[in-house]
Formats: sequence, structure tokens, C-alpha cells
Amino acid sequence: MTAAGPAVVLPWHAAAWRRLAGLRAGSRMPHAILLAGPAGLGKSQFARRLGASLVCARVGAEGDACGECAACRQVRAGSHADLHWIAPDEPGKLIKIDAIRALNRHSVLAAQEGGYRVFVIDPAEMMNVSAANALLKTLEEPASRTILVLVSSRPDRLPATIRSRCHAIVFAVPPTSDARDWLVQELPDGDVNSWLAIGGGAPLQATRAFAEGWLDADRQLIRGLGQLKERRTNPLQVVENLTGRPLTSVLESFRRCVADLVRIRQVPTYVGIFHPTERADLQSLAQDIDFKRLHEFGDELARFDHESRHNLNPTMVIEFLVNRWLQLTRPGGR
Ligand SMILES: [Zn+2]
Repeated sequence: MTAAGPAVVLPWHAAAWRRLAGLRAGSRMPHAILLAGPAGLGKSQFARRLGASLVCARVGAEGDACGECAACRQVRAGSHADLHWIAPDEPGKLIKIDAIRALNRHSVLAAQEGGYRVFVIDPAEMMNVSAANALLKTLEEPASRTILVLVSSRPDRLPATIRSRCHAIVFAVPPTSDARDWLVQELPDGDVNSWLAIGGGAPLQATRAFAEGWLDADRQLIRGLGQLKERRTNPLQVVENLTGRPLTSVLESFRRCVADLVRIRQVPTYVGIFHPTERADLQSLAQDIDFKRLHEFGDELARFDHESRHNLNPTMVIEFLVNRWLQLTRPGGR
């Protein structure tokens, strides 16, 4: 698969971009680069921009692709022979060894266009064990003018042997004012502060939250949890409302809400919560809940999040979560 579409320049990438452009200008371009950091910071866009620049014949002063040469036209059409994009066949599935074996075979050939040969693996943590082992071979004996770009929001899930052979570029959440300035352009009519908060400060997570309607979904869940805590609704009704949504989206809502409850239970005025406008409701939700058990609930959610790609039964998972919440909020503790 090749990467198509124009390269996007995101303002909070400036320092990382300058660093790589400097290495390239000094002929010290690393043969393997790991773009790591939380989701929603545009690491894939950075990889696209980097890939386009590495195959371009007339790179500009800032290190960006010219956008006009034959190579750039091929990149735009998604047909450049030296720019490869390795991803799971479907989102959430694993990257298998065949894809990495093909990479290994291609990487030893000379670049057809005389520039760099670039392989982007995105998301790299989705390589299965044998794929990761096969990649290790290429990392240990790098071919000249071949550059591997690994993109990962969960670099902790990559083997240490792979991480240690890559030049890491770590992306962090930009300062709030920078993120807000960018987001105002993207969502001119939106409640930018709320979208940024629910996106955990990551600008592209905020635009995704906007597109997928996270605020309404989470607020509805917070209301439902409140009614359950006060025993004012039939749990089956709450389960039924939630099963109308994709399981991964329900799990994400639960994860954000419970994360907020854990923080608020510790520090009621905690600043970086996902739902600042719901603080009063969250404070009353968190009241009288055993902190340790609340924290365990958060851990359980993280585990589901990881397992949800393996065909869990959505209704059973949601029933389990609602029951867990009823246990946590049982009058008198247990
Ligand atoms: Zn070009």
C-alpha cells in the first residue's frame, strides 16, 4: 500500500520537523525512526510529510517536498514505487509477517527513483510477534538509503529490541493556547474548550471527538451513571441505550468518565479532566465510592479496551460494566 494525499503541516510539529531536517542536511538521517506519543497529535500526518519529503527530487529549504516534481506527483497519486505504507488490513487487526517479509525483500533493492526508499509501519504496535521478529532482521542489517518509519501511540507494546534500534521522536500534547488557536480554525462554530478537554488536549483527538459526537455520548453516560447510583432507573434501560452504540465507543466513554471520577475523587478541583463542564455532576458521582475499587474499575476498562478487538459480545460487556457500577455505588459500600 502507498500513501496518498497531500502532506499536512501541523504547527506543533515544527520542532520535530526541524530536528529531522537538520539530521538529513548533515547526512545523518537515521535509518529507523520511531514516531511515538499519544493519539491525536498527527503522527501519521508527520510520517506522510516525511515520506513525501524523502522521495522528492527538489526538497525546499525547510526540508519539505516541493509538491511539483515527478516524484511528488506520484506520491499524490499514491503510486510512488519507493514509498510504502504498511498497515493492518482492517483497523484494529494485526499486521502479519507477510507484510514485513515483503518489506524485507523490497528494502534490499536500490531505490527505483534514486532517492530514499521509505517504509512506514502504522500503527507499529499492531505487528504480531513473528512480524516484529522479521522486522528486527532488517533493523539489524539496514540497507543503504532505506528508511523505516514506525508510528505508534503505544510504543510500550513494541519489543524493546525494536525500540532500541530506532531514533525516537516523541510527540507531546501542545500547549493549550497553541492547540486552541489551531482548533478554532478547524471548528469555527464549536465549543473549542470542551472538545479540546474531551480530546485530552490532543488537537486531532478533539476534531475526532467533534466528528463522532463524544460530548453528547459522554454526557448521556454521566446522566445514566447518576440515575443508576440513585437507583432511579432500570439498569436494563441503561444497557439498552448503550448497546445502540459501537462497543469500542461505549468503552471509550466509560474510560473517560471513570478516569475523571478517579481524578476528582483524589483532587476535586483537578484541572485536566475530560469533562470540565460536568464537574459538579462528576463530584457527586464520585462521592462515597471506595477509591481503590474505583481505580480497579478503571483498570478493568483499560483491559477491555485492549481486548475489544477480539470479538467480545457487546451486550455482555455493557451488562458487566453497568453491574460493576451498581456494585461500586451500592449504599453502605459493598
Ligand atoms: Zn518534489
